[in-house]
Amino acid sequence: MTVLESTPALGSAFSTYRVGGPIDCAYFPQTLEQAVEVLAVLGPKVAQGQSLSVLGWGSNTLVASQGIAGATLILRKLASIEPLGPNRFRIGAGTHLAKVATFSVDAGLTGGEFLIGIPGTMGGAVAMNAGAMGQDTAAIVERVAVFDLAANELCWLEKTDLTFGYRQSNLSPTRSIVLAVDCLFQPGDMATAKARMADNMAFRKAHHPHEPNGGSVFRNPDPAHPVGKLVDELGGRGQWQVGQALVSPMHGNFIINLGEATSADVLGLMAQVQRRVFEATGWRIFPENRWMGQATEAETNLWHQLKQGDPHGDDAHAA
Ligand SMILES: Cc1cc2nc3c(=O)[nH]c(=O)nc-3n(C[C@H](O)[C@H](O)[C@H](O)COP(=O)(O)OP(=O)(O)OC[C@H]3O[C@@H](n4cnc5c(N)ncnc54)[C@H](O)[C@@H]3O)c2cc1C
Repeated sequence: MTVLESTPALGSAFSTYRVGGPIDCAYFPQTLEQAVEVLAVLGPKVAQGQSLSVLGWGSNTLVASQGIAGATLILRKLASIEPLGPNRFRIGAGTHLAKVATFSVDAGLTGGEFLIGIPGTMGGAVAMNAGAMGQDTAAIVERVAVFDLAANELCWLEKTDLTFGYRQSNLSPTRSIVLAVDCLFQPGDMATAKARMADNMAFRKAHHPHEPNGGSVFRNPDPAHPVGKLVDELGGRGQWQVGQALVSPMHGNFIINLGEATSADVLGLMAQVQRRVFEATGWRIFPENRWMGQATEAETNLWHQLKQGDPHGDDAHAA
């Protein structure tokens, strides 16, 4: 059987922070069959200790400066939308969320508008339970096709198996990799849906940074105390900086890469924000961003500091 070949890649090209070192062996499957074939070969190697990392669009992931060793599955080419009925679609895990939003509205359906401005993939959105505009991915998911690394096979999980919560699911890329998602949308008023999408894009343009970034860095500790507001009140917006990483002047929960930032700069600034917020307000805030790759000792220490006491556990998957 001819299985997809791997290729070297640059981590910074596959993370929206635009930081990160080399990816030794990147696989870019374009079909479900290709993804399953590659994973069926990699699965036994993973069981023997080889690392496997998974990237969608890299819009919530900070890649280590030393890059990612082992195998890396980059799913952004696994992009497809297949109708299963009048309002149900099978969406490839690598499909960009803006495409899902426009496709559903063009089909006369509502429920997917909130995805319009989230720069990730369908698989990443399920893993993170991405959300916006008061909605989250869980609301449109019916079931997902995951490759189960322990069983070394493709299986289907129902929505109720996924334990969705605020920006989380129980899917760990070190155990189960989402390859396709069956989504359900609803008939609705298209004028309202299109207006909601336009409003959301205008809001993002006005309030989110345009420099490279990884979206919201920290989970909000409480809906009434969003991290952006806490940082803003402490004067951190546009001020707190480590190397070439700066708290965005537009939003206190975004860190921007001024051009030459390293992963250590971003981690160092995250640790600084976490410490300052705790010391000034008593709120313990924990990363929404994920960490991936071969950490230096300094990066490992910073990540452990950031995750210490995090109820979400350590969801980094260092190679
Ligand atoms: C400008 C900007 C705005 C953003 N706005 C929002 C927002 O409004 N709401 C929101 O929720 N998020 C937002 N984000 C964060 C991000 O877009 C979401 O978390 C998105 O769901 C991540 O998808 P991704 O494909 O980029 O995931 P990645 O960053 O590639 O991966 C995230 C995690 O999921 C895992 N993963 C990825 N794909 C799979 C898969 N197929 N199977 C199993 N695990 C997988 C990865 O290993 C990693 O642990 C924003 C980010 C940016 C840069």
